[in-house]
Amino acid sequence: MQTVEEITELRQLRAQLAGPLGFVPTMGYLHAGHISLVELAKRDCASVVVSIFVNPTQFGPSEDLAAYPRDIPADLKLLAAAGVDLVWLPTPEIMYPPGFQTWVEVEQVSQPLEGAQRAGHFRGVSTVVAKLFNAVTPDKAYFGQKDAQQVAVIQQMVRDLNFPLEIVVGATQREAEGLAMSSRNSYLSAEQRQAATVLYRALNAAREAYVAGERSGNRLRAIMRETIAAEPLAEAQYVSCADRASLEELDEITDGALLSMAVYVGKTRLIDNLILTSEK
Ligand code: AMP
Repeated sequence: MQTVEEITELRQLRAQLAGPLGFVPTMGYLHAGHISLVELAKRDCASVVVSIFVNPTQFGPSEDLAAYPRDIPADLKLLAAAGVDLVWLPTPEIMYPPGFQTWVEVEQVSQPLEGAQRAGHFRGVSTVVAKLFNAVTPDKAYFGQKDAQQVAVIQQMVRDLNFPLEIVVGATQREAEGLAMSSRNSYLSAEQRQAATVLYRALNAAREAYVAGERSGNRLRAIMRETIAAEPLAEAQYVSCADRASLEELDEITDGALLSMAVYVGKTRLIDNLILTSEK
């Protein structure tokens, strides 16, 4: 496995890799969720590139950029074991040199949910992902369903800007009790980790109601809120039952709708989601 920092060097090494090329962008502190995306890429593609970059422009001024967990040696071990060909580790100065002034804004899909709580977040995400795509030029790029709105934003950007690649979405990987794997879970105490299972419990409570015939968006949102309210260590920031592509809130729910939420457990902000189907 090779590692590289500079963009010109990345382009040279990338040109030597056999196609099709799969690409998994990450912010590092890797866990089994990230590795599941690498495994999908390995299944589909002759070569796999992973980037590790904690992108400063997608963090708000009061968010956890400085505290965001980092462990590059452990990440490289996991990626080598997973059979990755090339890891790109750009610095903030490489990605945003002095005078940088071009931004990608996906206007509507970036607005609700995470976008409403995290001003500028998706502008940072879409800009850095466009830059990563331009440098790596993958045939397929892999994103986790864990970040459902990010998937919607990137898919819209790929359509609108004609990136010649396919987005592949990998299922959310979870701990035994349903907590979605996340680098941010490392902020949680043992007690908070237990409380954090409430996100999946709330999503499942709404799913069960849907499978039993409930079709009211208001009712499903209320079920999620009530489940979270019953967990003393958790506080809901938003709950949503929306169209999975436009992310507009729905009144009448049908298969394919996206249930999602952001919940504080202590100071840690966690997100989770699932797509409804009426199958039991
Ligand atoms: P991050 O390092 O948090 O930016 O995540 C990098 C990629 O891994 C994104 O596409 C995430 O959606 C994906 N990812 C993060 N957590 C999970 C998970 N638990 N299951 C599947 N994919 C995930």
